[in-house]
Amino acid sequence: MSSSPRFSALKGIQDILPPDSSLWQKVEAAAKEVFTLHGFQEIRPPIIESTALFTRSIGETTDIVEKEMYTFLDKAGRSITLRPEGTASVVRAYVEHHLYNLPSPQKFFYSGPMFRYERPQKGRFRQFHQIGVEAFGVDAPFLDAEIIVMLRVLLERLGLKGVNFEVNSIGCEKCRPGYRSALQDFFSARLEDLCPDCRRRYEQNPLRILDCKVERCIEVRRGAPRVTDFLCGDCRAHFDEVLSALTLLNIPHVLNPDMVRGLDYYTRTTFEVTSEHLGAQKAVAAGGRYDRLVEEFGGPPVPGIGFAIGMERLTTLLRDNEGVIGPFPDVCIAPIGEKATKEAFLMAGRLRARGVWAEAGYDGSSLRSQLRRADRLSSRYVLILGDDELSSGRVKWKNLRDGSQGEVDIRGIEEFLSAALRGR
Ligand code: ATP
Ligand code: MG
Repeated sequence: MSSSPRFSALKGIQDILPPDSSLWQKVEAAAKEVFTLHGFQEIRPPIIESTALFTRSIGETTDIVEKEMYTFLDKAGRSITLRPEGTASVVRAYVEHHLYNLPSPQKFFYSGPMFRYERPQKGRFRQFHQIGVEAFGVDAPFLDAEIIVMLRVLLERLGLKGVNFEVNSIGCEKCRPGYRSALQDFFSARLEDLCPDCRRRYEQNPLRILDCKVERCIEVRRGAPRVTDFLCGDCRAHFDEVLSALTLLNIPHVLNPDMVRGLDYYTRTTFEVTSEHLGAQKAVAAGGRYDRLVEEFGGPPVPGIGFAIGMERLTTLLRDNEGVIGPFPDVCIAPIGEKATKEAFLMAGRLRARGVWAEAGYDGSSLRSQLRRADRLSSRYVLILGDDELSSGRVKWKNLRDGSQGEVDIRGIEEFLSAALRGR
């Protein structure tokens, strides 16, 4: 069947349909389990915030703030933005609810939709989803390493292979001025070759040139000074300790001194998990430290660190790895005739109460088409309920996996099926 839809989803925005949604659930369940073991608890911040929250934290000269935000005025004329990322909201909540008064570290995870007005392409959507974590109150390098390891544990548990952990340190406000002027020195002779955005960034925030996606700018910045050569003593020592903690745990990682990340709030450790199977948008997850952000939001000087996983990219990789199958009903009840349909209706309810996923056919279709349907749904069992079965008080069952069949007392059906499905 086909007809032309009157409505379609907005450009760059997609539906997540079954059975793909079961893969999403699997990822969410695994994330919750792994994060909980590491002491993270769920936080559910709102999806809209005041625009200033994002411009102040992510940074005026970033791609996100310059080009990608879904911003609108509400009825009272306030500037509102659909969240482009999760960290700003979590930090706002942390400060607003004085969570820094609780024992450190405070650790949170979140998941949900994010919105960026980007050019839709493979791995890039306008509504996309992230699962992320944030930990506040501890700046010890062991925490950085622990968080990177936690991400690795989760991805491994999901069976994801062939990913790289890239790490870098982008220093603090003490290292920044020296690096900034080194960058300006480097680019001053190459200004003509930069895109108009980067020429502006040269004045306002030269670090941002390193994150520009324009081909020519990528070319021009080859040979630019590297941030790791400008780290102050404290940042250098911090980074070295993060690296040795990763080595201590045998976590393979690569240094990527070019990774500055697309958000201004980062300090010190930054990291990305990349996969060669994703094409140009190769980062599955990314994160870093933001030791100044809580204070910038009006809180005490409390350090923070976190990451976010891009769900669309992660599920793409998992789908390519193993495909998506199921879930399948435990049993399809195929009734013939009105009386049997009523019995099927009642029986389905009783079975579900016992934890059995039961489907009952209500549309009066033939036994043949009901059996075909059970097959298409990949049901484990079918039960056949006709007049004969009702009067004899026995039901015919068939196991669609191994072809075995038999009869069972209608009153014993819940018992029979829950035993048969045990260990499914
Ligand atoms: P990219 O390099 O793809 O532009 P980013 O630096 O903008 O990523 P972050 O803001 O760090 O990304 O977001 C973390 C993760 O969220 C990314 O690694 C990616 O997996 C995912 N992500 C970001 N933007 C999008 C998008 N528009 N569509 C789908 N996933 C996205
Ligand atoms: Mg981006």
